[in-house]
Amino acid sequence: MMKTSMNLMDKIVSLAKRRGFIYPGSEIYGGLTGFWDYGPLGTELKANIKRLWWNDMVYKRSDVVGIDAAIIMNPEVWKASGHLEAFTDPLIECKICHQRVRADNIEVKIDHEKTHKNKKIEWTQKKSFNLMTEVFLGVTQPKQKAYLRGEITQGVFVNFRNITDSTRIKIPFGIAQIGKAFRNEITPGNFSFRSREFEQMELEYFVAPDQKEAEKIFEFWKKERVEWYKTLGIKTENIRLRDHEPDERAHYALAATDIEYKSPFGWKEFEGIHNRSDWDLGRHKLTYKDPETQKEYTPWVIETSGGVDRATLFFLLDAYHEEGERVILKLHPHLAPFKAAVFPLLANKEDLVRSARDIYQSLSKHYYIAWDARGNIGKRYFSQDEIGTPFCITVDYDTLKNDTVTVRDRDTTKQERIKKDKLKDFFDNALHFN
Ligand code: ATP
Repeated sequence: MMKTSMNLMDKIVSLAKRRGFIYPGSEIYGGLTGFWDYGPLGTELKANIKRLWWNDMVYKRSDVVGIDAAIIMNPEVWKASGHLEAFTDPLIECKICHQRVRADNIEVKIDHEKTHKNKKIEWTQKKSFNLMTEVFLGVTQPKQKAYLRGEITQGVFVNFRNITDSTRIKIPFGIAQIGKAFRNEITPGNFSFRSREFEQMELEYFVAPDQKEAEKIFEFWKKERVEWYKTLGIKTENIRLRDHEPDERAHYALAATDIEYKSPFGWKEFEGIHNRSDWDLGRHKLTYKDPETQKEYTPWVIETSGGVDRATLFFLLDAYHEEGERVILKLHPHLAPFKAAVFPLLANKEDLVRSARDIYQSLSKHYYIAWDARGNIGKRYFSQDEIGTPFCITVDYDTLKNDTVTVRDRDTTKQERIKKDKLKDFFDNALHFN
């Protein structure tokens, strides 16, 4: 069982590199632990995740607005938020080779111990290790020390007053943001799952300071967010909610539940739902005046904090299928990098190529479409299945006679003949973009 699961991870890592989803960062210089680069298809998949999230969290809700805050902020922000003091992981060091690992990561500890066969291993006492990444600004010495944000959240809180002053939004309301965060992780690993640079997609939802109301909103977002992943194809048996134990919660959280995925390396968090109460606004000394009652108070915050990179990895893992020699990424069509591929039956027949090119160009105005004229049709199907393209359109000799093309479905492999001028309608309908 474990063997199959580990194979799956290896297969995904290899497919991701081979087909241009995810590459090791700065690979030609030997890479850099904890950094990954997204290739042409990975960039599309990630962009689709972010766009769909924004559509659902901002555009479809009248109570949410967006923000895009700077990555580097005044270091006072991190002092106030508690991150300089409490944003830590427990670290232990191997006394033989001085390798450091997270004290709570039993698997990594055991793996490390195996590298010192026949030797008695001793670990140092646990130490707290701060995850914030330091940067130095300016040209004159001493340079100003600042931090790359360890979570995107604080950019929302420090702009709370700007947002309430510059929009007409009233409590209860949310502020959404997508952006990069950086953590000096002790043990990055499991491919892109734990990186030192990653993207988060977060909603901070502000409510009146009322425990019952906050609990209601907390429950609402738990359900909503799990449904979101399921609607985009994550299998029910591979996703679950897990409440944090009191000693597991981050320094700001009154209550916390993780959305976890059943990955080849166990159930792992890819989104956290947190009740941050009035911790953050309180620390930044920000309040809200109810426009009707004129009552001033510190709002509470319910947060949904998802990782774009972890979601990308889990969507890839969940979509991976093999049927004999055939590899199919059964990505939801909304997530698939290409929505369709267009082929001329033969690459050396000018009229077939011209007709296929016309179709490619007209559909490309609406959807991201692949073009392939290499090898035979079977190989082209194989290649598109492996990257999750939901449909393949082939222009053949019948196209020249009666203006129809074949459209082949990735999941059923069934083909149907469709009139060229009905293709746009067909895709609007099949991809549910209407
Ligand atoms: P973990 O316990 O795995 O370190 P966390 O509880 O510290 O995660 P949060 O601070 O709640 O994570 O961050 C919210 C989300 O940001 C996570 O659910 C995850 O998707 C993403 N995230 C956090 N750390 C990383 C990382 N090192 N690499 C990739 N994504 C991350």
